Amino acid sequence: MGATGLVIDPAFRLHETGSGHPESPRRLEAIETELQRRGLRQRCQLIRARPATDLELQRCHTVRYLETVRRDVAYDARQLSTGDTTICDASEDVARLAAGGTLAAVEAVLSGQVNHAFALVRPPGHHAEADRGMGFCIFNNVALGARHAQVVHGLERVLIIDWDLHHGNGTQAIFWRDSSVLFASVHEWGNYPGSGAATERGEGPGLGFTLNCPLPGGSDGPAVLTALTAVLRPAAERFRPQLVLVSAGFDSHRDDPLGSFRLEDSDYGALTQLCLDIASEHADGRLVSVLEGGYALQGLAGGAAAHVETLLET
Ligand code: ZN
Repeated sequence: MGATGLVIDPAFRLHETGSGHPESPRRLEAIETELQRRGLRQRCQLIRARPATDLELQRCHTVRYLETVRRDVAYDARQLSTGDTTICDASEDVARLAAGGTLAAVEAVLSGQVNHAFALVRPPGHHAEADRGMGFCIFNNVALGARHAQVVHGLERVLIIDWDLHHGNGTQAIFWRDSSVLFASVHEWGNYPGSGAATERGEGPGLGFTLNCPLPGGSDGPAVLTALTAVLRPAAERFRPQLVLVSAGFDSHRDDPLGSFRLEDSDYGALTQLCLDIASEHADGRLVSVLEGGYALQGLAGGAAAHVETLLET
């Protein structure tokens, strides 16, 4: 049994998206309340978030895009000019904290402080590409986490498993030509953003290091788990990741308003176990998960609690 870390910070609630927006501060409130209620939060080590620096963000994002974010916020824009992401005065600072919170989780795991960690951050990140935010995302937290592990901690091979309902187009694009990060995504085919066909497999040196598992709407937990297992197991054997990162989205929950998968709370425990098994076989059990989507508050909280419960059991 190894210690589990949690990145929690009330500042993540300062990224305001307006009433009725699904990506709301209430999402974190719901998860934290549920973790507290089940006594799970008390069993985890708290990890402090910190803002990511320009240099850290530039490992995945262009200087020009960082300027765009700064300018949009300074000019009081309500939407990021690159895509469908609602912003407020605090959004750049909070997005830097979400990225830095993810880096802090990676540091805690790679320094041996904890075996695994869940970064409960927002805004989410997996739709953000090098030069544009979109889909509620500003900076690509999980991609920045992978680069941090490589640049600062010298890791050569990082696996990113993305089980959010939506395709992680941003993460895919950032590592499209890269053989040092294996990206595997299971997602609802035909949903936002429209990418993620099985034929998208990377290019050049990255060919074969992007693995997409599109599934039809209506898919349930066992279908998602079976598809992901079939793709991941042999790929992990070949790749031998030194760290497993998870884009943990909970919008595949049966109650979610943005998707039509039918996962139950307990299915997230099974998905977590698959990721943990791969981490323990290849990466000394080192795993960092990062919150992505999940918009049915109760389903989000139940799925996230099942995720943490399974981390704590391992
Ligand atoms: Zn999503």
